[in-house]
Amino acid sequence: MSARSLDSKVLSTAIRAGDRATLARAITLVESTRADHRQTAHRLVQELLPSTGKAIRLGITGAPGAGKSTTIDALGSYLTGQGHKVAVLAVDPSSSRTGGSILGDKTRMARLAIDANAFIRPSPSSGTLGGVAAKTRETMLLCEAAGYDVVIVETVGVGQSETAVADMTDFFLVLMVAGTGDELQGIKKGIVELADMIAVNKADGDNIARANIAAADLRSALHILSPRSPTWTVPAITYSALTGGGIDTLWNHVTDYRNKMTASGEFAARRREQQVKWMWTMLEERLTARLRSDPAVRAKLRQAESAVAAGALSPTLAVEEIAGLLGL
Ligand code: GDP
Repeated sequence: MSARSLDSKVLSTAIRAGDRATLARAITLVESTRADHRQTAHRLVQELLPSTGKAIRLGITGAPGAGKSTTIDALGSYLTGQGHKVAVLAVDPSSSRTGGSILGDKTRMARLAIDANAFIRPSPSSGTLGGVAAKTRETMLLCEAAGYDVVIVETVGVGQSETAVADMTDFFLVLMVAGTGDELQGIKKGIVELADMIAVNKADGDNIARANIAAADLRSALHILSPRSPTWTVPAITYSALTGGGIDTLWNHVTDYRNKMTASGEFAARRREQQVKWMWTMLEERLTARLRSDPAVRAKLRQAESAVAAGALSPTLAVEEIAGLLGL
């Protein structure tokens, strides 16, 4: 990138003006691991901060095949039709640009991919979940500054990615399909506890009755969980991403949530908590990185690991010794 293109002031002005090419370039900067890029990215995010936060941030998860891409394509097109500007991002630490990136193939969102009011960006491909999530967060802020008022963050239904996405969004939507065992797995893995709504997809054709039963079962299961918010009862609905039937109702729940939670103060409170948690997550990552990069500490860590594994050293004493090396 040229020196001029790396000037954070130049970038922020163009992003605020909604320039897509600059937005894409700035995201590349945010994703870069080069120290000078990181510095410009930090400045850029800081400069744009006052222009961020106005979007509704929607997290979407679901097992592969649940219909995430079809849903985002249908919902996103519905929203741009209503005058919204929609950004679609992803958190998938297992993805690589050349391999199975969940958004790598834009043809999975055929309508949205050619929509002038939509912006689709695949998951950052490298690094730990924490690293990928941090980059997606910053990308989200850039998109908001560029005027996207709905940001959708997609994740695959595995591991800790769901928690990471729930921690950066206002509303976490869990997609399921009736008769696939998703319901049970979701309950087992605790995903249901993260959900602000569960939507049973593919309620079309012969599947409608089954989808309705699944939604009713989920409602009973949700009923047993203690509610996270006094203001919001987690709905379990059915819809069809393929026909678009129920997409409007799905969105109405999201806006209903925003209105109610804003009125109660919980919407802003959740964002405040997310900000502070994000700060701690980044700080912990930095501390861990520091711990692992110091040669003396690294040698001590290896030695302590084998001694602890062999039962020759207690974990408590090992921590004391390592902490001592760091002056803690
Ligand atoms: P993802 O892996 O979660 O992104 O799922 P996709 O959106 O790629 O959908 C997986 C398959 O389910 C595709 O063949 C879709 O056409 C199909 N599908 C998605 N939504 C629906 C729906 O509402 N009804 C039906 N019948 N099929 C759907």
